[in-house]
Amino acid sequence: MPHPESDAWFARARAVTPGGVNSPVRAFAAVGGTPRFMASGQGAWLRDVDGNEYVDLVCSWGPMLLGHAHPEVVAAVTAAVARGTSYGTPTTTEVELAEEILGRTPVERVRLVSSGTEATMSAIRLARGFTGRDLVVKFAGCYHGHVDSLLASAGSGLATLGISLGVSTTPGVPESSAAQTIVLPYNDRAAVEAAFAEHGDRIACLVTEASPGNMGVVPPAAGFNAFLAETCRRHGALFVSDEVMTGFRVSRQGQWGLDGAVEGWTPDLMTFGKVMGGGFPAAAFGGRADVMAMLSPEGPVYQAGTLSGNPVATAAGLATLRLATDEVYARVDEVAGTIAAEAAKALTAAGVPHVLQANGNMFSIFFTDAPAVTDYATAAGQDTGAFKAFFHAMLDRGVYLPPSAFEAWFCSSAHDDRAVQQVLDALPAAAEAAAA
Ligand code: PLP
Repeated sequence: MPHPESDAWFARARAVTPGGVNSPVRAFAAVGGTPRFMASGQGAWLRDVDGNEYVDLVCSWGPMLLGHAHPEVVAAVTAAVARGTSYGTPTTTEVELAEEILGRTPVERVRLVSSGTEATMSAIRLARGFTGRDLVVKFAGCYHGHVDSLLASAGSGLATLGISLGVSTTPGVPESSAAQTIVLPYNDRAAVEAAFAEHGDRIACLVTEASPGNMGVVPPAAGFNAFLAETCRRHGALFVSDEVMTGFRVSRQGQWGLDGAVEGWTPDLMTFGKVMGGGFPAAAFGGRADVMAMLSPEGPVYQAGTLSGNPVATAAGLATLRLATDEVYARVDEVAGTIAAEAAKALTAAGVPHVLQANGNMFSIFFTDAPAVTDYATAAGQDTGAFKAFFHAMLDRGVYLPPSAFEAWFCSSAHDDRAVQQVLDALPAAAEAAAA
């Protein structure tokens, strides 16, 4: 597909913005080529500035559960904008959105913020304030936003399972900050036990993606989240379940609806974003009432935001959640199941080694001959060259996949039969390209 306008805009963008983008993955660095500049979205479809149309399997990295420009969300947003865009006072919509979140999840109190990064950053500060401890445990391959202390990777000592404190993964994060973080391999109970045995009385919280999607989809082993919750409880640490990606997406109640609600445990704190903002900057953290009571102005742990609970963003989020009925989740599950199965079938037919992994309606395909991907080390063993060829062949056939092998694919309830068929039609040639 020709894209001279995207080329021209990318050149202009690079002259004014580092890498030409406002979030790194958008730059196509992992797949090469020119990122497409999108001009509009409608339902399952994106249209770029050259007029090319794509079936969208990114969905803004998760938020667009109902598809783009859903008429009822647009109406709610338009009405909110007409009433004024920000007052810096409490509004009724904030309360209604909070009530909707409490109605779907086990959190007893919730605070609205503007991004998932803010949500996890604030949850960690609160956990430290509540416990009077400093250390945070996270898993390699889990992303929680660009929070200083969570941009840490495993220290070399992990290789031998002697647990060490993390080292910074980016210049600009003080080693002192990364050293407050213990980084463990995902799905590894022994590593968790060892970390708590060694540092248990210094650990404020363990934070985990409720079901990781940021190294590709790597679901928790059966009972793993319950084990984490129980381990934290035994050691007086808080269990922070990051549902920024999974919340209100993989089910009405998010990932917790698929495991905690069934198994009978609750996180101490949870973080949310993406779907609950309906495509606007809105996110949240919440949890136990006694922990949340530590938050200012009720308690001493400070947290604030000029645009927190913004009336337009909360109107979009509230409309989206109210429209996200059981039928919506059933349709998204069905679409995701069809696309995932057909993609795997096409790759098998072309002889491309791969593993399909799914968690509810989130899925990804790892281009690997490993039998399963259970942690970051196995995810990292992928053939990224094969993905790159697959990605561009799909793009050329009007399917917009995440431009990285380490991302989940997202569908919406607006993916109708025509959109799904366009994806299915593109798969055989893309699989052949990956095989080449
Ligand atoms: N937590 C998880 C699990 C995420 O997937 C993300 C973003 O992708 C974040 C936190 C950060 O959210 P945001 O990009 O809104 O800051």
